[in-house]
Amino acid sequence: MADEDIVQYDIDGPVATVTMNRPRYSNAQNSAMTYALDEAFRRAVDDDDVKVIILAGSGKHFSGGHDLGSPEADHGQEFARVASTWWSGVGRPGAEGRYAREHEVYLDMCRRWRDLPKPTIAKVHGACLAGGLALAWSCDLIVASDDAFFADAGARFDNIGIEYFAHPWQMGPRFAKEFLFTARRLSAAQALDWGMVNRVVPRENLDAETTGLAREIAQASRLGLALTKKAINHAEDLMGLRSGMDTAFALHQLGHSHVGEVGAQLDPEEVKKSFAARP
Ligand code: ZN
Repeated sequence: MADEDIVQYDIDGPVATVTMNRPRYSNAQNSAMTYALDEAFRRAVDDDDVKVIILAGSGKHFSGGHDLGSPEADHGQEFARVASTWWSGVGRPGAEGRYAREHEVYLDMCRRWRDLPKPTIAKVHGACLAGGLALAWSCDLIVASDDAFFADAGARFDNIGIEYFAHPWQMGPRFAKEFLFTARRLSAAQALDWGMVNRVVPRENLDAETTGLAREIAQASRLGLALTKKAINHAEDLMGLRSGMDTAFALHQLGHSHVGEVGAQLDPEEVKKSFAARP
């Protein structure tokens, strides 16, 4: 694969690695990268020799979140939608356009990846912020390096946190409240303590540890892994994940609409502090 591909795809035996490749922008998620990720995941699912999929980020950080303003931000660009049946949000005014686009790109796309029939491992280093959390959380396992950190400052912006609102299921309700109320950076060690990641390893061992875990998982049968994953995802849905996220998504849209109606009522110092968490 060429270095300039927005998403790189590599195969090593039974392990496919899908790498977000916008290092200049901390792998900020624009639509082009989202649909390229989807294509790479589909390719891995369709390849019978692939047993496990690793999701990684190139450069200094796993992901700085949604692309809110790089020169390649593409909110106004049409892509063939695959995750939702809503009409395009592009060019639609007000809440309608935002609702349609965010449902497709930020919520349903992550749900689709979360239900891929092959085990996925997020290999997280450096920043994993806001929208970056959804990318990591949609994977089955998370291996983090000791320099990884996590944050979601949505509450500072009259909102609840990201569209893929899995926080209470990822770290438990009480820690989710602390995480969102304070918008503080969560260290890899703390994330392990809160049950949000599977393991934390020294940065220099991240590749080897993640590949080792993938190869260990790959020893099981393809169907066995798929059925096991489905059973556990269904159990998680029975714990309210899906319906909880539906409600949270509506509240998230309410927050956006409020800001749209009254304008952002933000203390510039607060904004500066929140963005200080960004790489
Ligand atoms: Zn949003």
